[in-house]
Amino acid sequence: MSPGRKRVGADRRRLLGGLAGFAATAYVRPAAAADYDVAVIGAGLAGLTAARRLRELGRSVVVLEARDRIGGRAVTDRAALNTPIDLGAGWLHSADENPFVPVLQAMGTTLVEDPLETYISIEGREVDTADYRRFDQIVEDAYAAIGDATEGGADQPVGRVLKSSDRLTALAQRLLGPVSAGVELGALSAADLSAQIATGVEFLVPDGLGRAVASFGSGVTVRLSSPVSRIDRRGRTLALTTPNGVISAGRAIVTVPPAVLNAGRIVFDPPLPPAHQAALGGFGAGLVDKIFLRFERDMFGLAPLTALRAVTRTGQMLDGVVNLFAEPVAVMFAGGDLAWDLERQGREAAIAWALDGLVDLFGGELRRAYQRGVATAWGADPWASGAYPIVRPGRAPAREALAQPVDDRLFFAGDAVVPGWAGQLPAAYLSGMAQAEAAARA
Ligand SMILES: Cc1cc2nc3c(=O)[nH]c(=O)nc-3n(C[C@H](O)[C@H](O)[C@H](O)COP(=O)(O)OP(=O)(O)OC[C@H]3O[C@@H](n4cnc5c(N)ncnc54)[C@H](O)[C@@H]3O)c2cc1C
Repeated sequence: MSPGRKRVGADRRRLLGGLAGFAATAYVRPAAAADYDVAVIGAGLAGLTAARRLRELGRSVVVLEARDRIGGRAVTDRAALNTPIDLGAGWLHSADENPFVPVLQAMGTTLVEDPLETYISIEGREVDTADYRRFDQIVEDAYAAIGDATEGGADQPVGRVLKSSDRLTALAQRLLGPVSAGVELGALSAADLSAQIATGVEFLVPDGLGRAVASFGSGVTVRLSSPVSRIDRRGRTLALTTPNGVISAGRAIVTVPPAVLNAGRIVFDPPLPPAHQAALGGFGAGLVDKIFLRFERDMFGLAPLTALRAVTRTGQMLDGVVNLFAEPVAVMFAGGDLAWDLERQGREAAIAWALDGLVDLFGGELRRAYQRGVATAWGADPWASGAYPIVRPGRAPAREALAQPVDDRLFFAGDAVVPGWAGQLPAAYLSGMAQAEAAARA
């Protein structure tokens, strides 16, 4: 998600307490016949964290990963634009409270604070100081209105809470929905948004956050290119079907995104209990794609890492960051309906959309200085099926419901199940840790 979130009645302790509560269940040794004590499905941050913790707890673990790499939605590309670019997670949000930050610091990872510089332009002209102030105020007011609307646990679509009167308001309000959650405001749960932690302190990793996650998991043995297609829990041990054979384990931790589960890519036999099916039904997929463009030199005249919020002369809304780590590279975010639409049109169309927008704002010279681009397509990726696990309005409790164990041997972890950090690396890290402890003691 992008920077700009604010704390609105977050209750992090409640959730962490809830997850930690699993650890109290009685210890029973897994059935002796299993190949492994625990199978971890998925080698994103949640799976890597769970595997590390289980190993610390002395359990035998197998990690089964569908892709030919680890890291999941945290991945750095170094080759395409000659500089590290994070195709998935890029920011350590709320870095002063983010539990993954101390882990990276202990690994010696270089972190830099996002200066949070912003350039706002409407129809090709930078707005005046009063409008900069008004922009911030609109975002503040939006969070306050959402906080009020969700008092006492009520929920409704954010789009019903907020009224947009002009282009600056629409531009600012987009930050809450399409840009940071990957859904339009009408599909965004106000209750879920109000549970988010956001302190306004943002860190970045110049060498790549995806690379840092891979390095965190480098000591974990992972079976790559091993998608799990079936989890059979009819017998005394769990049987997991992969293209390379069936693996048995006493427990399993599923870290696969809900959208992938909802697409039916893993068959549960017997089917999941009704409460888990209902929880999964509460999830949708938020989509944000990143479009990176490299120019031969600085074309913006803006400070490194300046966030761009703009409405072009043709009415196109543009959000992104220019001069990434002082390189002549820009990243534009396409979120919500626009992102699905651009994925249908193809990566070249997405790159053209971003370049056209920037040319409208900064002039035709930009097109001549353009060298090459990279566009992600997280929606079409079968092992992600979107960027963020969003919950539909009225379904915010789905996150904690999915985190409940099934028969004390099937556990769900990942960025979907921790409300305060939903759709972010800390959720993956915390739930991986908590579910590993629960699985070890179950
Ligand atoms: C464009 C984008 C921008 C983002 N920006 C940020 C950000 O700035 N800050 C932030 O904190 N977060 C951000 N996120 C979210 C962050 O990437 C996720 O929260 C985090 O990576 C989730 O980790 P996870 O382990 O829960 O899931 P994943 O990383 O999705 O890992 C799940 C793993 O399961 C694997 N898998 C799927 N199906 C199967 C199967 N059937 N069998 C075996 N393996 C399977 C997948 O290949 C994957 O490796 C962003 C995400 C995207 C896409």
